[in-house]
Amino acid sequence: AFTSQSLESAANDRLLGGLLSSGFNEGSCLSRYQSFMFRKASPFKPSTYLLSKLRKYEELHRRCGPGTQPYKQALEQLKSDNQTAVPTECNYVVWISYSGLGNRILTVTAAYLYALLSNRVLLIDPGTDMTDLFCEPFPSSSWFLPQDFPLNNQFKDYNQESSRCHGHMLKNNLLNVSAEEAPSYLYLHLGHDYNDHDKLFFCDDDQKFLENVPWLIMRTDNYFVPSLFLISSFEQELFSLFPEKVTIFHHLGRYLLHPTNQVWGLITRYYSAYLARADERIGIQIRTFEEGPGPFPHVKDQILSCISKEKLLPDINKDGSSFSSSKNHRSIAVLVTSLDVGYSETLRELYWENPTVTGEVVGFYQPSHEGFQQSHKKMHNRKAWAEMYLLSLSDKLVTSAWSTFGYVAQGLGGLKPWILYKPEDMKTPEPACGRAMSVEPCFHAPPFWDCKAKTGVDTGRLVPHVRHCEDISWGLKVV
Ligand code: GDP
Repeated sequence: AFTSQSLESAANDRLLGGLLSSGFNEGSCLSRYQSFMFRKASPFKPSTYLLSKLRKYEELHRRCGPGTQPYKQALEQLKSDNQTAVPTECNYVVWISYSGLGNRILTVTAAYLYALLSNRVLLIDPGTDMTDLFCEPFPSSSWFLPQDFPLNNQFKDYNQESSRCHGHMLKNNLLNVSAEEAPSYLYLHLGHDYNDHDKLFFCDDDQKFLENVPWLIMRTDNYFVPSLFLISSFEQELFSLFPEKVTIFHHLGRYLLHPTNQVWGLITRYYSAYLARADERIGIQIRTFEEGPGPFPHVKDQILSCISKEKLLPDINKDGSSFSSSKNHRSIAVLVTSLDVGYSETLRELYWENPTVTGEVVGFYQPSHEGFQQSHKKMHNRKAWAEMYLLSLSDKLVTSAWSTFGYVAQGLGGLKPWILYKPEDMKTPEPACGRAMSVEPCFHAPPFWDCKAKTGVDTGRLVPHVRHCEDISWGLKVV
Protein backbone atom coordinates (compact mmCIF):
# COMPACT_ATOMS: atom_id res chain seq x y z
CA ALA A 1 0.00 0.00 0.00
CA PHE A 2 1.12 3.55 -0.68
CA THR A 3 1.79 5.75 2.30
CA SER A 4 1.14 9.44 1.88
CA GLN A 5 4.88 9.90 2.12
CA SER A 6 5.61 7.55 -0.77
CA LEU A 7 2.90 9.18 -2.87
CA GLU A 8 4.43 12.54 -2.15
CA SER A 9 7.87 11.34 -3.10
CA ALA A 10 6.51 9.79 -6.33
CA ALA A 11 4.93 13.13 -7.23
CA ASN A 12 8.20 14.81 -6.43
CA ASP A 13 10.09 12.46 -8.78
CA ARG A 14 7.59 13.00 -11.55
CA LEU A 15 7.98 16.77 -11.31
CA LEU A 16 11.77 16.50 -11.06
CA GLY A 17 12.00 17.78 -7.52
CA GLY A 18 9.54 20.60 -8.16
CA LEU A 19 11.19 21.91 -11.34
CA LEU A 20 8.11 21.16 -13.41
CA SER A 21 4.73 22.71 -12.89
CA SER A 22 1.90 20.21 -12.66
CA GLY A 23 -0.51 22.29 -14.71
CA PHE A 24 -0.10 20.70 -18.13
CA ASN A 25 -2.20 18.28 -20.12
CA GLU A 26 -0.15 15.10 -20.01
CA GLY A 27 -0.99 13.68 -23.44
CA SER A 28 0.10 16.79 -25.32
CA CYS A 29 3.67 16.21 -24.22
CA LEU A 30 4.30 12.75 -22.80
CA SER A 31 7.99 13.33 -22.16
CA ARG A 32 7.35 16.03 -19.57
CA TYR A 33 5.91 13.72 -16.94
CA GLN A 34 7.47 10.45 -18.15
CA SER A 35 11.12 11.44 -18.24
CA PHE A 36 11.64 10.43 -14.60
CA MET A 37 10.89 6.80 -15.51
CA PHE A 38 13.90 6.71 -17.83
CA ARG A 39 16.39 8.80 -15.89
CA LYS A 40 18.17 8.11 -12.68
CA ALA A 41 17.25 10.66 -10.04
CA SER A 42 19.40 13.74 -10.49
CA PRO A 43 22.38 14.03 -8.13
CA PHE A 44 21.53 17.74 -7.92
CA LYS A 45 18.60 19.31 -6.13
CA PRO A 46 17.19 22.62 -7.40
CA SER A 47 17.15 25.39 -4.80
CA THR A 48 13.81 26.52 -3.42
CA TYR A 49 14.71 29.98 -4.65
CA LEU A 50 15.06 28.67 -8.21
CA LEU A 51 11.70 26.91 -7.93
CA SER A 52 9.98 30.08 -6.77
CA LYS A 53 11.68 32.04 -9.55
CA LEU A 54 10.42 29.57 -12.17
CA ARG A 55 6.86 29.85 -10.84
CA LYS A 56 7.12 33.65 -10.87
CA TYR A 57 8.40 33.56 -14.42
CA GLU A 58 5.47 31.37 -15.49
CA GLU A 59 3.19 33.99 -14.00
CA LEU A 60 5.00 36.75 -15.89
CA HIS A 61 4.79 34.80 -19.13
CA ARG A 62 1.07 34.25 -18.62
CA ARG A 63 0.55 37.95 -17.99
CA CYS A 64 2.75 39.22 -20.85
CA GLY A 65 2.77 36.42 -23.44
CA PRO A 66 1.46 36.68 -27.01
CA GLY A 67 -2.12 37.89 -27.20
CA THR A 68 -2.18 39.67 -23.83
CA GLN A 69 -2.81 43.38 -23.37
CA PRO A 70 0.76 44.17 -22.25
CA TYR A 71 2.05 42.30 -25.31
CA LYS A 72 -0.12 44.40 -27.60
CA GLN A 73 1.04 47.54 -25.86
CA ALA A 74 4.69 46.55 -26.28
CA LEU A 75 4.04 45.72 -29.95
CA GLU A 76 2.77 49.27 -30.43
CA GLN A 77 6.10 50.54 -29.18
CA LEU A 78 7.89 48.23 -31.56
CA LYS A 79 5.80 49.27 -34.55
CA SER A 80 6.19 52.95 -33.83
CA ASP A 81 9.93 52.28 -34.12
CA ASN A 82 10.67 54.91 -31.53
CA GLN A 83 14.20 56.06 -30.88
CA THR A 84 12.97 56.93 -27.42
CA ALA A 85 10.71 54.21 -26.11
CA VAL A 86 8.04 54.84 -23.52
CA PRO A 87 8.44 52.32 -20.67
CA THR A 88 6.26 49.25 -21.19
CA GLU A 89 4.64 47.00 -18.62
CA CYS A 90 6.51 43.97 -19.96
CA ASN A 91 9.88 43.68 -21.66
CA TYR A 92 10.94 40.90 -24.02
CA VAL A 93 13.91 39.01 -25.30
CA VAL A 94 13.43 37.34 -28.67
CA TRP A 95 15.67 34.38 -29.52
CA ILE A 96 16.41 33.88 -33.21
CA SER A 97 16.68 30.26 -34.38
CA TYR A 98 20.26 29.88 -35.59
CA SER A 99 22.89 27.13 -36.04
CA GLY A 100 22.97 23.36 -35.34
CA LEU A 101 20.59 21.76 -32.89
CA GLY A 102 23.10 21.32 -30.06
CA ASN A 103 23.99 25.01 -30.30
CA ARG A 104 20.34 26.01 -30.33
CA ILE A 105 19.53 23.95 -27.24
CA LEU A 106 22.34 25.69 -25.38
CA THR A 107 21.51 29.18 -26.56
CA VAL A 108 17.79 28.97 -25.93
CA THR A 109 18.64 27.95 -22.36
CA ALA A 110 21.15 30.78 -22.01
CA ALA A 111 18.54 33.22 -23.37
CA TYR A 112 16.03 31.94 -20.83
CA LEU A 113 18.50 32.49 -17.99
CA TYR A 114 19.07 36.01 -19.29
CA ALA A 115 15.29 36.54 -19.33
CA LEU A 116 15.12 35.40 -15.68
CA LEU A 117 17.95 37.72 -14.67
CA SER A 118 16.70 40.75 -16.56
CA ASN A 119 13.03 40.23 -15.82
CA ARG A 120 12.08 39.77 -19.46
CA VAL A 121 9.72 37.45 -21.27
CA LEU A 122 11.43 34.96 -23.58
CA LEU A 123 9.86 34.45 -26.99
CA ILE A 124 11.42 32.14 -29.50
CA ASP A 125 11.49 32.23 -33.25
CA PRO A 126 10.13 28.81 -34.29
CA GLY A 127 12.51 28.66 -37.28
CA THR A 128 11.84 25.59 -39.40
CA ASP A 129 11.73 22.91 -36.75
CA MET A 130 11.49 24.18 -33.16
CA THR A 131 7.76 23.39 -32.85
CA ASP A 132 8.39 19.91 -34.23
CA LEU A 133 11.08 19.21 -31.64
CA PHE A 134 10.09 20.91 -28.39
CA CYS A 135 6.92 21.12 -26.31
CA GLU A 136 5.70 24.36 -24.83
CA PRO A 137 7.55 24.85 -21.54
CA PHE A 138 5.29 27.41 -19.85
CA PRO A 139 1.73 26.62 -18.74
CA SER A 140 -1.15 28.31 -20.59
CA SER A 141 0.87 30.73 -22.72
CA SER A 142 3.04 30.06 -25.77
CA TRP A 143 6.75 30.76 -25.94
CA PHE A 144 6.68 30.79 -29.75
CA LEU A 145 6.76 34.12 -31.46
CA PRO A 146 3.48 34.61 -33.36
CA GLN A 147 3.64 34.36 -37.16
CA ASP A 148 2.60 37.97 -37.52
CA PHE A 149 5.37 39.35 -35.33
CA PRO A 150 6.37 42.51 -37.21
CA LEU A 151 10.12 41.81 -37.37
CA ASN A 152 9.86 38.16 -38.45
CA ASN A 153 10.96 38.83 -42.01
CA GLN A 154 13.96 40.84 -40.91
CA PHE A 155 15.66 38.22 -38.74
CA LYS A 156 17.59 36.69 -41.62
CA ASP A 157 19.01 40.07 -42.63
CA TYR A 158 20.18 41.16 -39.21
CA ASN A 159 23.93 41.41 -38.95
CA GLN A 160 26.64 43.45 -37.27
CA GLU A 161 26.07 46.35 -39.65
CA SER A 162 22.31 46.57 -39.10
CA SER A 163 21.20 50.01 -38.07
CA ARG A 164 19.59 48.64 -34.89
CA CYS A 165 22.51 46.40 -33.95
CA HIS A 166 23.59 47.25 -30.39
CA GLY A 167 27.33 46.96 -31.18
CA HIS A 168 27.03 48.90 -34.43
CA MET A 169 25.21 51.75 -32.69
CA LEU A 170 27.80 51.86 -29.91
CA LYS A 171 30.62 51.91 -32.42
CA ASN A 172 29.08 54.83 -34.24
CA ASN A 173 28.15 56.73 -31.08
CA LEU A 174 24.46 56.38 -31.80
CA LEU A 175 23.59 55.26 -28.28
CA ASN A 176 24.07 57.22 -25.11
CA VAL A 177 24.48 54.46 -22.56
CA SER A 178 24.24 56.81 -19.60
CA ALA A 179 20.98 58.36 -20.81
CA GLU A 180 17.51 57.29 -19.68
CA GLU A 181 16.07 57.22 -23.16
CA ALA A 182 16.48 54.14 -25.30
CA PRO A 183 15.13 52.79 -28.58
CA SER A 184 12.12 50.50 -28.66
CA TYR A 185 14.18 47.59 -29.88
CA LEU A 186 17.78 46.52 -30.41
CA TYR A 187 19.40 43.61 -32.17
CA LEU A 188 22.07 41.84 -30.09
CA HIS A 189 24.68 40.15 -32.22
CA LEU A 190 26.21 37.51 -29.94
CA GLY A 191 27.38 34.97 -32.52
CA HIS A 192 30.91 33.53 -32.43
CA ASP A 193 32.04 36.22 -34.91
CA TYR A 194 30.94 39.17 -32.76
CA ASN A 195 33.22 42.18 -32.34
CA ASP A 196 34.45 44.20 -29.37
CA HIS A 197 31.44 46.52 -29.49
CA ASP A 198 28.93 43.65 -29.58
CA LYS A 199 30.74 42.18 -26.57
CA LEU A 200 29.91 45.23 -24.45
CA PHE A 201 26.64 43.40 -23.84
CA PHE A 202 28.57 41.72 -21.03
CA CYS A 203 29.24 45.01 -19.18
CA ASP A 204 27.24 46.37 -16.23
CA ASP A 205 26.71 49.83 -17.74
CA ASP A 206 25.31 48.37 -20.92
CA GLN A 207 23.03 46.05 -19.03
CA LYS A 208 21.75 49.02 -17.05
CA PHE A 209 21.03 50.83 -20.30
CA LEU A 210 19.36 47.81 -21.91
CA GLU A 211 16.83 47.75 -19.06
CA ASN A 212 15.11 50.62 -20.87
CA VAL A 213 14.79 48.80 -24.18
CA PRO A 214 11.45 46.92 -24.37
CA TRP A 215 12.52 44.50 -27.11
CA LEU A 216 15.89 42.77 -27.41
CA ILE A 217 16.33 40.52 -30.43
CA MET A 218 19.17 38.07 -29.85
CA ARG A 219 21.14 35.91 -32.27
CA THR A 220 23.80 33.65 -30.81
CA ASP A 221 25.35 30.24 -31.31
CA ASN A 222 27.15 30.33 -27.98
CA TYR A 223 26.36 29.30 -24.41
CA PHE A 224 27.21 32.69 -22.90
CA VAL A 225 26.21 31.83 -19.32
CA PRO A 226 29.76 31.85 -17.84
CA SER A 227 30.15 35.51 -18.75
CA LEU A 228 26.86 36.44 -17.06
CA PHE A 229 28.63 35.50 -13.81
CA LEU A 230 31.13 38.28 -14.49
CA ILE A 231 28.41 40.95 -14.63
CA SER A 232 28.23 42.18 -11.05
CA SER A 233 24.53 43.06 -11.15
CA PHE A 234 23.73 39.41 -11.99
CA GLU A 235 26.28 37.64 -9.85
CA GLN A 236 24.41 37.61 -6.52
CA GLU A 237 21.18 36.47 -8.13
CA LEU A 238 23.01 33.63 -9.87
CA PHE A 239 24.51 32.50 -6.56
CA SER A 240 21.06 32.48 -4.98
CA LEU A 241 19.40 30.66 -7.86
CA PHE A 242 22.17 28.11 -8.22
CA PRO A 243 23.97 27.44 -4.92
CA GLU A 244 25.49 24.52 -6.85
CA LYS A 245 26.84 26.67 -9.65
CA VAL A 246 27.51 23.87 -12.10
CA THR A 247 23.82 22.96 -12.35
CA ILE A 248 22.57 25.86 -14.46
CA PHE A 249 22.13 24.02 -17.74
CA HIS A 250 21.22 20.80 -15.92
CA HIS A 251 18.21 22.33 -14.17
CA LEU A 252 17.13 24.85 -16.78
CA GLY A 253 17.53 22.36 -19.62
CA ARG A 254 15.40 19.77 -17.82
CA TYR A 255 12.86 22.44 -17.05
CA LEU A 256 12.66 23.92 -20.53
CA LEU A 257 13.36 21.25 -23.10
CA HIS A 258 10.81 18.50 -23.45
CA PRO A 259 10.86 16.38 -26.61
CA THR A 260 7.58 16.39 -28.54
CA ASN A 261 5.64 13.14 -28.75
CA GLN A 262 7.25 12.33 -32.13
CA VAL A 263 10.73 12.62 -30.68
CA TRP A 264 9.71 10.93 -27.43
CA GLY A 265 8.62 7.93 -29.51
CA LEU A 266 12.10 7.73 -31.04
CA ILE A 267 13.68 7.94 -27.60
CA THR A 268 11.50 5.47 -25.73
CA ARG A 269 11.33 2.85 -28.48
CA TYR A 270 15.09 2.83 -28.83
CA TYR A 271 15.70 2.80 -25.11
CA SER A 272 13.26 -0.02 -24.45
CA ALA A 273 14.47 -2.17 -27.36
CA TYR A 274 18.24 -1.88 -26.84
CA LEU A 275 19.25 -0.23 -23.58
CA ALA A 276 16.73 -0.85 -20.83
CA ARG A 277 17.79 -4.38 -19.87
CA ALA A 278 21.53 -3.77 -19.58
CA ASP A 279 23.18 -3.66 -16.15
CA GLU A 280 25.17 -0.61 -17.20
CA ARG A 281 24.75 1.94 -19.96
CA ILE A 282 27.65 3.82 -21.48
CA GLY A 283 27.29 6.60 -24.03
CA ILE A 284 30.00 7.39 -26.55
CA GLN A 285 29.50 10.46 -28.73
CA ILE A 286 31.84 10.68 -31.69
CA ARG A 287 32.00 14.01 -33.47
CA THR A 288 34.92 14.73 -35.77
CA PHE A 289 35.83 18.04 -37.32
CA GLU A 290 38.46 16.77 -39.80
CA GLU A 291 38.23 17.29 -43.53
CA GLY A 292 37.14 14.46 -45.81
CA PRO A 293 35.23 11.25 -45.20
CA GLY A 294 35.58 9.20 -42.00
CA PRO A 295 35.97 6.94 -40.18
CA PHE A 296 39.51 8.02 -39.33
CA PRO A 297 42.06 5.50 -38.00
CA HIS A 298 43.49 8.01 -35.52
CA VAL A 299 40.01 8.51 -34.02
CA LYS A 300 39.44 4.75 -33.76
CA ASP A 301 42.72 4.45 -31.88
CA GLN A 302 41.75 7.37 -29.70
CA ILE A 303 38.46 5.78 -28.64
CA LEU A 304 40.12 2.44 -27.86
CA SER A 305 42.88 4.12 -25.91
CA CYS A 306 40.40 6.17 -23.88
CA ILE A 307 38.07 3.34 -22.93
CA SER A 308 40.93 1.07 -21.97
CA LYS A 309 43.02 3.61 -20.00
CA GLU A 310 40.00 5.00 -18.19
CA LYS A 311 38.59 1.48 -17.66
CA LEU A 312 35.24 2.43 -19.15
CA LEU A 313 34.80 -1.01 -20.68
CA PRO A 314 36.35 -4.34 -19.64
CA ASP A 315 39.51 -5.23 -21.56
CA ILE A 316 39.34 -8.00 -24.11
CA ASN A 317 41.34 -11.19 -23.87
CA LYS A 318 43.34 -11.43 -27.07
CA ASP A 319 45.46 -14.47 -26.10
CA GLY A 320 43.49 -16.86 -28.21
CA SER A 321 41.07 -18.43 -25.77
CA SER A 322 37.69 -17.81 -27.23
CA PHE A 323 35.85 -18.51 -23.99
CA SER A 324 35.79 -16.74 -20.73
CA SER A 325 35.55 -19.12 -17.79
CA SER A 326 34.02 -16.40 -15.66
CA LYS A 327 30.44 -16.79 -14.50
CA ASN A 328 29.97 -13.05 -14.69
CA HIS A 329 26.90 -12.42 -16.82
CA ARG A 330 26.76 -8.71 -16.34
CA SER A 331 25.83 -6.89 -19.53
CA ILE A 332 26.91 -3.50 -20.71
CA ALA A 333 25.08 -1.59 -23.43
CA VAL A 334 27.13 1.01 -25.25
CA LEU A 335 25.18 3.66 -27.13
CA VAL A 336 27.35 5.12 -29.89
CA THR A 337 26.28 8.26 -31.73
CA SER A 338 28.11 9.44 -34.80
CA LEU A 339 27.48 10.66 -38.30
CA ASP A 340 29.70 7.73 -39.39
CA VAL A 341 28.98 4.06 -39.00
CA GLY A 342 32.62 2.92 -38.84
CA TYR A 343 33.49 3.54 -35.19
CA SER A 344 30.79 1.40 -33.63
CA GLU A 345 31.44 -1.35 -36.21
CA THR A 346 35.06 -1.59 -35.13
CA LEU A 347 34.11 -1.77 -31.47
CA ARG A 348 31.36 -4.31 -32.06
CA GLU A 349 33.65 -6.56 -34.04
CA LEU A 350 36.36 -6.39 -31.41
CA TYR A 351 34.00 -7.39 -28.61
CA TRP A 352 32.44 -10.14 -30.73
CA GLU A 353 35.67 -11.74 -31.85
CA ASN A 354 37.21 -11.68 -28.34
CA PRO A 355 35.91 -12.37 -24.84
CA THR A 356 36.27 -9.79 -22.11
CA VAL A 357 38.63 -10.55 -19.25
CA THR A 358 35.77 -10.19 -16.78
CA GLY A 359 33.26 -12.28 -18.68
CA GLU A 360 30.90 -9.35 -19.03
CA VAL A 361 29.18 -9.02 -22.38
CA VAL A 362 29.22 -5.73 -24.25
CA GLY A 363 26.73 -4.72 -26.94
CA PHE A 364 27.08 -1.69 -29.21
CA TYR A 365 24.10 0.19 -30.53
CA GLN A 366 24.09 3.13 -32.90
CA PRO A 367 20.67 4.59 -33.72
CA SER A 368 21.63 6.40 -36.94
CA HIS A 369 24.52 7.31 -39.19
CA GLU A 370 23.32 10.31 -41.11
CA GLY A 371 26.61 10.91 -42.97
CA PHE A 372 26.61 14.68 -42.63
CA GLN A 373 24.68 17.51 -41.01
CA GLN A 374 21.30 18.04 -42.72
CA SER A 375 19.64 20.58 -40.48
CA HIS A 376 16.89 21.41 -42.99
CA LYS A 377 15.39 17.89 -42.67
CA LYS A 378 12.72 17.17 -40.08
CA MET A 379 13.57 13.54 -39.35
CA HIS A 380 17.30 14.32 -39.26
CA ASN A 381 16.77 16.87 -36.50
CA ARG A 382 14.37 14.64 -34.60
CA LYS A 383 17.00 11.92 -34.60
CA ALA A 384 19.70 14.33 -33.49
CA TRP A 385 17.56 15.46 -30.53
CA ALA A 386 16.61 11.88 -29.68
CA GLU A 387 20.27 10.84 -29.70
CA MET A 388 21.39 13.69 -27.45
CA TYR A 389 18.63 12.70 -25.05
CA LEU A 390 19.47 8.97 -25.19
CA LEU A 391 23.12 9.77 -24.46
CA SER A 392 21.98 11.72 -21.41
CA LEU A 393 20.38 8.54 -20.02
CA SER A 394 23.78 6.84 -19.72
CA ASP A 395 25.53 5.92 -16.49
CA LYS A 396 28.86 7.05 -17.92
CA LEU A 397 29.50 9.28 -20.90
CA VAL A 398 32.32 9.86 -23.36
CA THR A 399 32.01 12.99 -25.53
CA SER A 400 33.99 14.68 -28.26
CA ALA A 401 35.83 17.97 -27.71
CA TRP A 402 34.28 21.13 -29.17
CA SER A 403 30.85 19.60 -29.64
CA THR A 404 27.69 21.23 -28.31
CA PHE A 405 25.87 17.96 -29.13
CA GLY A 406 27.91 16.33 -26.37
CA TYR A 407 27.44 19.27 -23.97
CA VAL A 408 23.67 18.87 -24.20
CA ALA A 409 23.92 15.16 -23.32
CA GLN A 410 26.25 15.73 -20.36
CA GLY A 411 24.23 18.67 -19.04
CA LEU A 412 20.82 17.00 -19.19
CA GLY A 413 22.26 13.82 -17.73
CA GLY A 414 24.17 15.59 -14.96
CA LEU A 415 27.23 13.61 -16.08
CA LYS A 416 30.86 14.64 -15.97
CA PRO A 417 32.02 13.14 -19.26
CA TRP A 418 35.37 11.85 -20.41
CA ILE A 419 36.24 14.22 -23.24
CA LEU A 420 38.01 12.88 -26.32
CA TYR A 421 40.47 15.70 -26.93
CA LYS A 422 40.57 17.28 -30.37
CA PRO A 423 43.14 15.56 -32.61
CA GLU A 424 45.71 17.79 -34.30
CA ASP A 425 47.27 16.86 -37.69
CA MET A 426 45.24 13.64 -37.91
CA LYS A 427 47.11 12.16 -34.93
CA THR A 428 45.72 10.46 -31.84
CA PRO A 429 46.14 12.89 -28.94
CA GLU A 430 48.03 11.78 -25.84
CA PRO A 431 46.29 11.42 -23.49
CA ALA A 432 43.33 10.42 -25.64
CA CYS A 433 40.75 11.77 -23.22
CA GLY A 434 40.31 13.34 -19.80
CA ARG A 435 37.54 13.83 -17.27
CA ALA A 436 35.59 17.09 -17.42
CA MET A 437 35.69 19.38 -14.38
CA SER A 438 31.94 19.94 -14.36
CA VAL A 439 28.72 19.11 -16.16
CA GLU A 440 28.32 22.66 -17.49
CA PRO A 441 28.77 23.41 -21.22
CA CYS A 442 31.69 25.49 -22.49
CA PHE A 443 31.27 29.06 -23.82
CA HIS A 444 33.37 28.90 -26.99
CA ALA A 445 33.83 32.59 -27.74
CA PRO A 446 33.87 34.59 -24.50
CA PRO A 447 34.88 38.25 -24.25
CA PHE A 448 38.24 39.09 -22.69
CA TRP A 449 37.45 42.58 -21.50
CA ASP A 450 37.52 44.27 -18.13
CA CYS A 451 34.54 46.61 -18.38
CA LYS A 452 35.61 48.80 -15.46
CA ALA A 453 39.32 49.13 -16.21
CA LYS A 454 38.55 49.30 -19.96
CA THR A 455 41.36 46.97 -20.83
CA GLY A 456 41.83 43.38 -21.94
CA VAL A 457 41.84 40.74 -19.21
CA ASP A 458 41.89 36.95 -18.96
CA THR A 459 38.28 36.36 -17.90
CA GLY A 460 39.13 32.72 -17.12
CA ARG A 461 41.19 33.84 -14.12
CA LEU A 462 38.98 36.36 -12.38
CA VAL A 463 36.83 34.17 -10.14
CA PRO A 464 37.25 30.57 -8.96
CA HIS A 465 33.95 29.35 -10.47
CA VAL A 466 34.59 30.53 -14.06
CA ARG A 467 37.58 28.78 -15.64
CA HIS A 468 38.94 27.89 -19.05
CA CYS A 469 37.41 24.78 -20.60
CA GLU A 470 39.08 21.36 -20.79
CA ASP A 471 38.53 21.09 -24.54
CA ILE A 472 38.97 24.70 -25.73
CA SER A 473 41.75 26.60 -23.99
CA TRP A 474 40.20 30.03 -24.64
CA GLY A 475 36.64 28.97 -23.77
CA LEU A 476 35.00 29.59 -20.39
CA LYS A 477 32.93 27.31 -18.23
CA VAL A 478 31.35 27.30 -14.82
CA VAL A 479 33.06 24.80 -12.53
P1 GDP B 1 28.15 20.51 -32.82
O1 GDP B 1 28.40 20.97 -34.22
O2 GDP B 1 28.79 19.21 -32.51
O3 GDP B 1 28.47 21.56 -31.81
O4 GDP B 1 26.57 20.17 -32.63
P2 GDP B 1 25.27 20.74 -33.33
O5 GDP B 1 24.16 19.85 -32.85
O6 GDP B 1 25.08 22.19 -33.09
O7 GDP B 1 25.47 20.54 -34.88
C1 GDP B 1 25.78 19.29 -35.40
C2 GDP B 1 24.62 18.68 -36.19
O8 GDP B 1 25.12 17.61 -37.00
C3 GDP B 1 23.56 18.06 -35.31
O9 GDP B 1 22.57 18.94 -34.89
C4 GDP B 1 23.02 16.98 -36.23
O10 GDP B 1 22.21 17.58 -37.20
C5 GDP B 1 24.29 16.49 -36.90
N1 GDP B 1 24.99 15.47 -36.07
C6 GDP B 1 26.25 15.55 -35.58
N2 GDP B 1 26.55 14.42 -34.87
C7 GDP B 1 25.45 13.63 -34.94
C8 GDP B 1 25.13 12.33 -34.39
O11 GDP B 1 25.92 11.68 -33.71
N3 GDP B 1 23.88 11.85 -34.64
C9 GDP B 1 22.97 12.56 -35.38
N4 GDP B 1 21.77 12.02 -35.58
N5 GDP B 1 23.24 13.77 -35.91
C10 GDP B 1 24.46 14.31 -35.69
